[in-house]
Amino acid sequence: MSTNSSSSLAGHSHSGTEPAISQGDRAKAVVAAVRLAQPAWAALTVAERVAKLRQAQQNILSKSTELAELISRETHKPLAEAYSSEVVGVGDLFGYWCKHGPAQLQPRKGLIPTLEMPKKQAWIDRLPRGVVACISPWNYPVALPMRTLVPALLAGNGVVLKPSEVTPQTGVWLVEQLQLVLGPVVSVLTGDGSAGAALVEALPDMVVFTGSTRTGRRVAVACAERGIACELELGGKDCALVLQDADLDRAAAGIAWGILTNAGQNCAGIERVAVHKAVEGVFVPKLVAALQRAAADVPELVTAAQRAVVEGHVRDALARGATLLAGSVTPPGRPLPPLLLGDVPSDAPAWTDESFGPIAVLAVGQDDHDLVRLANDSRYGLGASVWTRDLGRGKQVAAQLRCGMVWVNNHSFSAAVPDLPWVGVGDSGTGVTNSPEALMHLTRPHLLLVDGTSDVEAWWYPYGERMTELMRAVIARQLSNGIGATLKTLGALKARMAELRSSK
Ligand code: NAD
Repeated sequence: MSTNSSSSLAGHSHSGTEPAISQGDRAKAVVAAVRLAQPAWAALTVAERVAKLRQAQQNILSKSTELAELISRETHKPLAEAYSSEVVGVGDLFGYWCKHGPAQLQPRKGLIPTLEMPKKQAWIDRLPRGVVACISPWNYPVALPMRTLVPALLAGNGVVLKPSEVTPQTGVWLVEQLQLVLGPVVSVLTGDGSAGAALVEALPDMVVFTGSTRTGRRVAVACAERGIACELELGGKDCALVLQDADLDRAAAGIAWGILTNAGQNCAGIERVAVHKAVEGVFVPKLVAALQRAAADVPELVTAAQRAVVEGHVRDALARGATLLAGSVTPPGRPLPPLLLGDVPSDAPAWTDESFGPIAVLAVGQDDHDLVRLANDSRYGLGASVWTRDLGRGKQVAAQLRCGMVWVNNHSFSAAVPDLPWVGVGDSGTGVTNSPEALMHLTRPHLLLVDGTSDVEAWWYPYGERMTELMRAVIARQLSNGIGATLKTLGALKARMAELRSSK
């Protein structure tokens, strides 16, 4: 850790000789330090901030082996997946925002009606919100926070990262590397949920929360009570729809990856598969084979508690008459193998709740309409995929799905593309990360209006007799917008202005 970063890393460093400070005081100190540093960071030009972020990118990527190994150690991900789903994406994130972010932050000129509101000019600027708190889960401890940190910093915000208690070292490492270049405008607060709650209570200007639906609701309430802007990226129960004309080999390979990547601990993991009855007989053995082939690359779940959730879903479903199409629950100490369940009742937790493990449930639909019904049978709405050789048909089915993202013939990989929004509906939350929309949320619009008129305004006091006539003429013009209506408005405006001037 660098010398200049040690004070702003007060949120996690704690030597045995220091007096213990409370969680709340720790959070307040971290937020206060970032708040102090933020105005100077925001006062830099965007080009200067871009230059710093490029340096930070170089610094992080030059230590990519250290980062990938740290991720793999804390999350149990295979090293290859630590690179593919986290480290490589960091390079793209910095690259995208440094290249395209500045144009998205440009002020916009406002459009003002010139007839009734002459000689006025308006600019809408995007200003940083101030201090953004990024509360993060453990499943992608780099890719997820960086989606918020990089654009938030580019926009001139200060940021406090609260990493998951399961992956604290990765969070601290990331912030240390950023601090080496950016200084104390970015900081970290480690700890469990109580540290996250204390961070919200320390009154940042915005909270970007990624995590479970249950926690997200609590965070949203805490933010609402304090008037803090809040973005929620929550859980999921994605469905893959296999249409009758799908390329079944590609669908089986892609869906197996969608179920198993990161051992299924993926908010957009495929947890439900809806297959057309005409291809069920051919597709299911292909999917089972693809799942079994992938087993060697699927690590153990990160926590015993998560494993217990998955096992609970399996036990409950089997007790209600479901069948195991692939895998079986293994004794503790051995990783869970890929699991596929059939005949699961639609009110069983395996169908309704997020399992977050290497498991999916399979249901059979009679036609496209039925497949859509099955996919939409969820209170979550993050992603879905439609597998078909007919791209037009794929788009038509996609349009009927209630979720934030639909991939035709693929699943979820777009998380790694910074220009594409990552977004859900319903219990998956309605926050947006990635894309220009996310940058808009991480900033606030600021209006500057300059009036060059020397005359009084038509809508000022006294209202007089002509004011109502003028308003009626304006409405008539809004309805017709023809030359006659415009001339009539102009006449009413002149009469009104004469009335106002004579009243002086
Ligand atoms: P979690 O909700 O248990 O914890 C997320 C973070 O919130 C952690 O840092 C935790 O310490 C903190 N936290 C806990 N209680 C808090 C409180 N009261 N106030 C403030 N912060 C608090 O989630 P998790 O188990 O770490 O992550 C898995 C969940 O995240 C899954 O549901 C998954 O679907 C979801 N997720 C969603 C997305 C997405 O983009 N939609 C991405 C990744 C993960």
